[in-house]
Amino acid sequence: MSDIELLPAVREFLATPRRLFIGGSWQDAALGQTFAVENPATEQVLCEVAEASETDVDAAVAAARAAFEGPWRRETPARRGLLMMRLADLMEAHAEELAQLITLENGKPIANARGEAASAANIIRYFAGWPTKIEGSTIPVSPASGAPMLNYTLREPVGVCALIVPWNFPLTMCVWKLGPVLASGCTAVLKPAEQTPLVAVRLVQLIEQAGIPAGVVNLLTGLGVRTGAPLAQHTDVDKIAFTGSTQVGRLIAQAATGNMKKVSLELGGKSPNIILPDADIARAAKGASDGIFYNQGQVCTAASRLYVHQSVLDQVLAELRRHATSYVLGSGLNPASSMGPLVSGRQLSTVSGYLQRGQAEGAELICGGKRPEHLDTGHFIEPTVFLDRAENACVAREEIFGPVVTVMSWSDTDELVSRANDSPFGLAAGLWTRDLRAAHRLAAELKAGSVWINCWNVVDPASPFGGYKQSGWGREMSKHVIGAYTETKSVFVDLA
Ligand code: ADP
Repeated sequence: MSDIELLPAVREFLATPRRLFIGGSWQDAALGQTFAVENPATEQVLCEVAEASETDVDAAVAAARAAFEGPWRRETPARRGLLMMRLADLMEAHAEELAQLITLENGKPIANARGEAASAANIIRYFAGWPTKIEGSTIPVSPASGAPMLNYTLREPVGVCALIVPWNFPLTMCVWKLGPVLASGCTAVLKPAEQTPLVAVRLVQLIEQAGIPAGVVNLLTGLGVRTGAPLAQHTDVDKIAFTGSTQVGRLIAQAATGNMKKVSLELGGKSPNIILPDADIARAAKGASDGIFYNQGQVCTAASRLYVHQSVLDQVLAELRRHATSYVLGSGLNPASSMGPLVSGRQLSTVSGYLQRGQAEGAELICGGKRPEHLDTGHFIEPTVFLDRAENACVAREEIFGPVVTVMSWSDTDELVSRANDSPFGLAAGLWTRDLRAAHRLAAELKAGSVWINCWNVVDPASPFGGYKQSGWGREMSKHVIGAYTETKSVFVDLA
């Protein structure tokens, strides 16, 4: 099988250098600088993109402020919802373009990119239902004077939001944040990751086409330090929403203190996946494999620590090895590939470093562990399984963000819970069992924002997502995220 044909619209898109979008106009960076976006499967340059610096950050924040104080505030909630519905329809109509751009710049298999494009449109559609449902309340207060008093709350948009997103789900991560921004009546400056700005540019073109007013969504492509950092520090930004590494999340939280921005953070993970002795082993092993190898393991919720009951360890390892070695590595544009390259040379060297250190620290390599011999270009790495009986190698404890799972065995449930919870992270956890009682007991005891029972990586815009401990602050999606993009005003009226 060979690579799919790129759509003419995608070819045309790549042939033109891509610009910043500020206050409704596409423009070059103030300093005229650009950076190259690479295809991680071929290591060829795809396109040049404008590189924003502090001057552009100031202009984009000013445009977002003007739109927030001006026309956007005057739109009715119903009209905001309608514009969002239009955007969702446009995203569906252009889904194949979005998917091809995702695969080109991120590397993931085209089937997964198509899934991402379809789900992104659904997420916008889910949030399009919210503007007319963000309500305050009337509260039965008890003044000491006994005077009759009316108290009610108003929910108001928080203001200008800086959205800094990563490269692993370059479209999903934009809409997880733009959905609540638009629904609540906020405005945004969006900064995609430097590895994957192209699908964000295409999304913003569709936002413009949907008729969302100028300045509501501004786009700054650029690098972390030169674009992201001044945006995070900007004193006219009211809220910052970040998804990325815990290390950068810490910098963002510090930068936000200048003007005490509201902050939401979705950070790293080292999620425990637990197989109980009574589980359907074939299904659990397939779930464990999908849970770690999906998206080349570049998922904050990757099922990277696998705790297998010792009575089924050999069986699970055999199944897991079979799944890991059956992946077909290759260009994501080839429909026969079930695993693409890692996103960048830097990511490949980080993951390769873990593979070496893991073995040096005593983890036993079950399969994988190296670059595939038949692929000499592209940032490919084999799906890898380690067994770590001592559970203290770096591969058992640190986030790798690659297709690497570390298996540990267990026998005592109480000890298992403390081992599973013994991590600075708390993003997700999962378990495989047919025992209802054990399932719900463990779900309550695991310290994680998402718990998956007999499944993994199930997310839904109606359900909250986020992390305990160093995996983040706050929740995305669902009614919970609306609270993160609104202020609550309490109004008292003396009726005496
Ligand atoms: P990774 O290490 O996996 O590339 P990062 O956490 O570095 O993930 O990147 C996530 C996002 O944060 C990207 O958009 C990146 O440009 C941005 N970023 C990186 N460094 C900073 C910084 N110092 N301040 C603000 N944003 C940053």
